Amino acid sequence: MAVVGASLAGTRAAEALRREGFDGRLTAIGEEVHRPYQRPPLSKQFLAGDWDRSRVDLRVRDLDADVRLGTVAEQLDLQAREVAVRGPDGHERIGFDGLIIATGCQPRSLRGEPDRGGMVGVHTLRTVDDSLALRVALDANPTVGVVGAGFIGSEVASTCRRRGLEVTLIDPLSAPLERALGRRMGDVVGKLHIDHGVRLRTGVSVRGLVGNGHVEGIRLDDGSLVPADLVVLGLGVTPAVKWLEGSAVHLDDGVVCDARCFVEGATNVVAAGDVARWFHPSSGRHLRVEHFDNAGAQAAAAARALLAGKDAQPYDPVLSFWSDQYEVKLQLLGMPELGDSVEVVEGDVSQLRFIAAYGREGRTVAILASNQMSRLHSYRTVVEKRLAFPPKAPA
Ligand SMILES: Cc1cc2nc3c(=O)[nH]c(=O)nc-3n(C[C@H](O)[C@H](O)[C@H](O)COP(=O)(O)OP(=O)(O)OC[C@H]3O[C@@H](n4cnc5c(N)ncnc54)[C@H](O)[C@@H]3O)c2cc1C
Repeated sequence: MAVVGASLAGTRAAEALRREGFDGRLTAIGEEVHRPYQRPPLSKQFLAGDWDRSRVDLRVRDLDADVRLGTVAEQLDLQAREVAVRGPDGHERIGFDGLIIATGCQPRSLRGEPDRGGMVGVHTLRTVDDSLALRVALDANPTVGVVGAGFIGSEVASTCRRRGLEVTLIDPLSAPLERALGRRMGDVVGKLHIDHGVRLRTGVSVRGLVGNGHVEGIRLDDGSLVPADLVVLGLGVTPAVKWLEGSAVHLDDGVVCDARCFVEGATNVVAAGDVARWFHPSSGRHLRVEHFDNAGAQAAAAARALLAGKDAQPYDPVLSFWSDQYEVKLQLLGMPELGDSVEVVEGDVSQLRFIAAYGREGRTVAILASNQMSRLHSYRTVVEKRLAFPPKAPA
């Protein structure tokens, strides 16, 4: 078996293969030189300087595997059943009977401005090296501009404010996290940022970066200039699939898979994690999910499917996600984007301690919890079974 992408999904897939009794040869191929680590702290505790490097590492059980770090998969040859790789010792072809694709995603850059705008002081955030570079740059007390108020942009803004820095957070939508949480809950997050001293510029796009070698500001579409000597681009990600181009693997915003995570266009190949766009039975659509919990769970499901072949089970999870901003822990269950209404069913929004339900056609499709960790699990069945909306607070 070969696993390409030796981070969260790749590692959890390899562990699952061994747990399920696979005792053949296992090769894991990872582009990064680091042992597997967790990404969530990279915009939170590690960026803030609260955690040191060793705390970020992922706990991995002994895989009895040939792990090739610093090794890039360059091409997939489905006929020969080989992956062409380039590693510290040069080029090589690694054969497989079964393959797990877990190459995740890479950050987007500004339109028409490859390579982080080509200017010093412009950062993206995906790897531990990115986070370390940003953390060091923040030590110089820069004025920070964050482009994109999705989860990563919002968390970076929060961490920068905690470090006492001046921050402007910019997004073309009307509120932070609007795409993920909808307008009403996005406004709650927007107020949270404003209350913590962030300059929030929503409903306006970025025209480009201003500076001569080093970034000095962000020019917005309304002509205004946001001064910033450090810019973080939180513009979302694209699936890391370049190495699969030219193979028969079906690519469409990720690696397209069936409900059991088998890759369309290939045999005995599965995909998992941020790179996989699989058919999610409960919602009846293909989804690509960029969540920590999903990457681990889907990797285990995909590995089991690879071993089970035609007896494999569909992977049909209740999606879950969390985000830490300031003193608030947001947690999500289900798919808010399916909802057309939202109601607060417990607690008090003004205290940032509440549970909100998202509904569609009288059914509950998602739950958002803010600082309600102990209550969230009680709502799992509500989302799993799509109980009546708005749901009654479970005991
Ligand atoms: C800063 C940050 C904060 C986050 N915070 C949260 C959070 O609070 N909550 C949450 O639920 N999720 C969060 N996430 C998302 C979560 O970390 C991801 O969903 C998860 O890392 C996905 O795991 P993965 O293994 O699919 O992909 P990745 O973690 O991206 O791993 C893919 C690996 O494949 C390697 N690779 C790519 N191409 C090749 C190739 N051709 N050859 C070899 N190797 C290759 C990459 O180098 C990488 O190591 C966060 C992500 C980031 C970046």
